[in-house]
Amino acid sequence: MTDRLHTDTLIIGAGSAGCVIANRLSANPQHQVTLVEAGGKDNWHWIHIPVGYLYTMGNPKTDWCYSTTPQKGLNGRCLAYPRGRVLGGCSSINGMIYMRGQKDDYASWGEGWSWDDVLPYYKKSENYHRGADDFHSDQGEMLVQEQRLKWDILETFKKVCEESGFTDRPDFNRGNNSGIGYFEVTQKKGVRWSSARAFLHPVMHRSNLKVMTKTLTERLVFEGDRCVGMEGTRHGKPLSIRAERVVLAAGAIGSPSLLERSGIGSESVLKPLGIPIRNRLEGVGKNLQDHLQVRLQYHLERGETLNQQANSWLGRIKMGLQYVYNRSGPLSMAPSQLGAFFKSSDEVDRADLEFHIQPMSADKLGIDLHRFPGMTASVCHLRPESRGTTHISGTNASDVPIIDPNYLSQAYDRDVVCKAIEKTRDLMDHPLLSEFSPSEHKPGRIQKTDHDLVKAAGDVATTIFHPVGTAKMGSDTDGETVVSKKLGVHGLRDLYIADASVVPTITSGNTHAPVVMIAERLAEWLD
Ligand SMILES: Cc1cc2nc3c(=O)[nH]c(=O)nc-3n(C[C@H](O)[C@H](O)[C@H](O)COP(=O)(O)OP(=O)(O)OC[C@H]3O[C@@H](n4cnc5c(N)ncnc54)[C@H](O)[C@@H]3O)c2cc1C
Repeated sequence: MTDRLHTDTLIIGAGSAGCVIANRLSANPQHQVTLVEAGGKDNWHWIHIPVGYLYTMGNPKTDWCYSTTPQKGLNGRCLAYPRGRVLGGCSSINGMIYMRGQKDDYASWGEGWSWDDVLPYYKKSENYHRGADDFHSDQGEMLVQEQRLKWDILETFKKVCEESGFTDRPDFNRGNNSGIGYFEVTQKKGVRWSSARAFLHPVMHRSNLKVMTKTLTERLVFEGDRCVGMEGTRHGKPLSIRAERVVLAAGAIGSPSLLERSGIGSESVLKPLGIPIRNRLEGVGKNLQDHLQVRLQYHLERGETLNQQANSWLGRIKMGLQYVYNRSGPLSMAPSQLGAFFKSSDEVDRADLEFHIQPMSADKLGIDLHRFPGMTASVCHLRPESRGTTHISGTNASDVPIIDPNYLSQAYDRDVVCKAIEKTRDLMDHPLLSEFSPSEHKPGRIQKTDHDLVKAAGDVATTIFHPVGTAKMGSDTDGETVVSKKLGVHGLRDLYIADASVVPTITSGNTHAPVVMIAERLAEWLD
């Protein structure tokens, strides 16, 4: 028998965005809000201990465990494509970096979405460790704090960048992030501060908010052009929820999948699967943009890195004690501590490359760190031209989506990747680093020509987990937009999307903060 519920606002997906909307709308007692999440509660300790991302990624308890199609630009490799499946969504498994992107990124988002338009909403959710000023607030729920440990190798790399002309940038979030500095993170004193921790847990007691975990939405339900709810399962049992309006916040893969299962999308995808078309929107699942990180790994002759600590019993005991007593040390560590934004060439108007510098190295992202002292200089192109797709492979939520980011498919992106590797190598050759004697472990220095470098990038590059754009926002005269500037789905009523999928052009930086900002805006419009 199907359980039937009724609500005013139904939010699908309790990730970075969904938790914010649930908080804001339920603050008004006139709204009855139901938030449904396919994953479980966020009560596993590795979600909260920052280094736990090593255990939550690739784990079906917290991750949808997707992978990409074979990527031609990556020499035919398929990549693991983690997406959070738990309260907090990706913000419960992510790298915790707080980054808004650059002022000029928003120029391409269209009317009403300029930097000046969005800045107040960044401030609204933020609680900044240095206090309030024109760019920051100390009144929001999302804590943005400094990291709690330093490494000599990172300090030296920072000096190298400064000597090479990079501006010292202690705050990347004032519209211009060009320069070098330590990333600020969404943590509370060394503990992860996910969207669920910041926005959901403090308001779970509200009588007008119902949060349902292990609740999988199969499809949306319509009456004419009105969205009136969902059908799915809770703990495997059939469930339907009727609602006055529905907000999709299932993320850059989840939201387009749900639209397609509900008959909203392109005929070329839906017809072969036998799904009747409710609303033809060609853009659903297209325009997938992501940041591809090229991970240059270095073997150091000397110097202390996480590799040695993680690979020795004594080191692990020390790390455990540091965390238990001070909430500091490597267990409090975001994977990337030091960051830099810089230009690939003088032809670009602003920084288009981002470094994530890590005091550790591993062949694959994960817990198997090299046994030798190592560091990783990961560099990613922030404004790629390559565009990919994500589409459903079947009519049920259990049918895994076909995710094709189409990395390095554009000549421009291949050109930038070569420059990125060359610039990283130039910096690593700086005499200041000679005290550590770094040598390039991977991809290895043998590659010299552009052709070699593209091949090398294809061998070592991987996602930095920022898929966006698969239900892009814009006016309905553009044949590929899915939602309006106010985030309503074109051609339908009472259906909205607020998550990474609506981002029309990817920001020059990490994507959690922009998603929270988008959620703040929709919540205000729906209140
Ligand atoms: C490993 C990793 C590291 C990252 N590091 C950083 C970083 O350091 N800094 C940064 O800014 N960004 C980072 N990101 C990216 C950032 O976290 C995401 O862009 C952001 O969290 C996306 O938010 P969202 O609300 O769009 O989707 P999500 O947070 O993914 O939320 C979607 C939610 O919807 C649920 N859902 C999906 N389908 C259904 C369904 N059918 N029924 C019910 N529920 C459903 C999901 O389970 C999930 O909880 C990282 C991401 C990952 C995965």
